[in-house]
Amino acid sequence: MSLNVISGRDPVTGTSLSVEVDAGRIVSIQPGPEGETAWISAGLIDLQVNGYAGYELNDSELKPETVVALTAELHRLGVTTFVPTLITASEEQLVARLRCIAQARKSDPLVAYSIPYIHVEGPSLSMEDGPRGAHPRAAVRPPDLLEFNRWQAASGGLVGMVTLSPHWNTAAAYTKALTAQGVHVCLGHTDASAEQITAAVDAGAVLSTHLGNGSSELMQRHHNVLWTQLADDRLFASFIADGHHLPSAALKAMIRAKGIGRSILVSDVTGIGGLAPGTYQSAIGGSVTLAADGRLYLPGTSYLAGSATPLTATIGKAIKLAKLTLSEALQMATVNPGQFVGGRGILRAGASADLIKFDWSPEVDNIELHAAWVNGRAIELLPEGATRSRK
Ligand SMILES: [Zn+2]
Repeated sequence: MSLNVISGRDPVTGTSLSVEVDAGRIVSIQPGPEGETAWISAGLIDLQVNGYAGYELNDSELKPETVVALTAELHRLGVTTFVPTLITASEEQLVARLRCIAQARKSDPLVAYSIPYIHVEGPSLSMEDGPRGAHPRAAVRPPDLLEFNRWQAASGGLVGMVTLSPHWNTAAAYTKALTAQGVHVCLGHTDASAEQITAAVDAGAVLSTHLGNGSSELMQRHHNVLWTQLADDRLFASFIADGHHLPSAALKAMIRAKGIGRSILVSDVTGIGGLAPGTYQSAIGGSVTLAADGRLYLPGTSYLAGSATPLTATIGKAIKLAKLTLSEALQMATVNPGQFVGGRGILRAGASADLIKFDWSPEVDNIELHAAWVNGRAIELLPEGATRSRK
């Protein structure tokens, strides 16, 4: 690969930058040239992806090709690193999906690069309707280190993040054991007590998974899972800023409580994302409806069934909903999640060349992607007006 110069405006300072790339790495970053209008940023990092564009990781018949195709779809959106997220399922199903993702990584170096590890969301979540969300109750079970070891044996140690509810008696010991192996333990889909949450954080839990969702609809006003997690500065928090999971005031107040430096945007997008509105059979929630406004829900209930909005499209929404600057929203989708994937998400000499170039102005809802590079490789974007068909 020859030397390539990619320029654009830095969202932090507003001034132009020229990024020199060689052999997949950023060689140098220089000021200029003047007159750039498009923005430049590190590629987006999504810690919670179930699927997109008809490719669903929680499908019972998951194939390595699906993982490869999903990776390509996300690259075209400027998501250069993502963490495949498997929801609660039987051990047999989880192991089959873990194996499949591991195979996909082996088949393609760019897929291996873009998938640093796998996030298992569950199966040790709350049993209760509400906090459990769309996870199947029958497959919810207590934390089991021996089962975790079998996941790792099946996937070649690819599980790097686990979300659990800390209400289980063994949650703290399990958290400690996983943390000691370098696995990020996250709290979510829970109605645990303050003491149980604090015990899990003491044991090493580092992140609140999609805070404000996966919790009871009604809760005690002072003693509840939200305040405890918001007040604990040891926890990062991820948020789904698709405009459906959290109203503006809740998102804004929660990000302010956590601070920009500890807030992360995740998509939680499922295989239904990117498809036309309608009712689908989804691996997450069964029969689900995607409304024209992008809301993805279980018909006849108030429960959401994941999101249909990819991370790229949540940047503009987060800016509007939480009154963020472009630079703050990007920090929450690059540098901050990057701390969970080995320090990616920063434009600096020596880093892998994961870059996006895009248009954005406060008047528009969405960032408009012009170009993306993954590990120095230019990605071919979808032609404008291209539509997707259900796989
Ligand atoms: Zn969830």
